[in-house]
Amino acid sequence: MNTVTEHQTISTEEARAKLAWIQDQINSVTDEIGVVADTVRFVGASKAQPLATIRAFADAGITACGENYLQDAISKIDELERYELEWHFIGHIQTNKAKQVAERFSWVQTLDSVRLAKRLSAARLDSHPGEPLNCCIQVNVDNEPQKAGVSAEAYDELVATAGELPGLKLRGVMAIPQPYPELAQRRESFKRVKTMFDDTSPRQPQHWDTISMGMSDDYLTAIRCGANLVRLGTVLFGPRPPK
Ligand SMILES: *Cc1c(COP(=O)(O)O)cnc(C)c1O
Repeated sequence: MNTVTEHQTISTEEARAKLAWIQDQINSVTDEIGVVADTVRFVGASKAQPLATIRAFADAGITACGENYLQDAISKIDELERYELEWHFIGHIQTNKAKQVAERFSWVQTLDSVRLAKRLSAARLDSHPGEPLNCCIQVNVDNEPQKAGVSAEAYDELVATAGELPGLKLRGVMAIPQPYPELAQRRESFKRVKTMFDDTSPRQPQHWDTISMGMSDDYLTAIRCGANLVRLGTVLFGPRPPK
């Protein structure tokens, strides 16, 4: 057994307290805006977190984790199999990695091209027939040149194409707004994502239900703007240890 990765970094009790605190934070906002608390959920953005930390949170009751790096993720998925966590891929996907992502994850939040959609769908049909891969389209909401995600122009085509693919279940949108220092500016970006979501007419509207936006710094603002899935790293697990 590897003593480095198995080192206990946080106790299950501490993890339980942290989960309860996050849930309280979320509940205070859902109360404030008048939505049912359990319509908003979070995934633990567990990239770079050691196995022992994720395991403590799994023991404490976390149900969903998001990972950015395929190789790290696969070993975590294998090691934590008995918890039956819902694994979300939240990093950029190179098309040659699509097959493994489709096989090992139940969600992809970073769908950003027609080519990737086709690859994911084909691989998913092979590995999980009858169990389509849940997908969110990543939108580059602030049109940042270096950032992943589709532009508003490419969005409609991707919605149309991905909506036709039998291996995918198109659930909604995901965005990482520009990290403006002012929350007021991020709020404008979040609202644009919400508007895009609302204005979309997907082929299977019954599955169109997810707005993934908000991270440690701004998840409460994101929920106020309509997010129903937030991705929490440091606020939940603590600072990411250096690699
Ligand atoms: C790392 C990461 C997060 C979480 O970031 P924190 O600021 O630590 O909460 C959320 N989403 C994505 C896509 C990430 O890569």
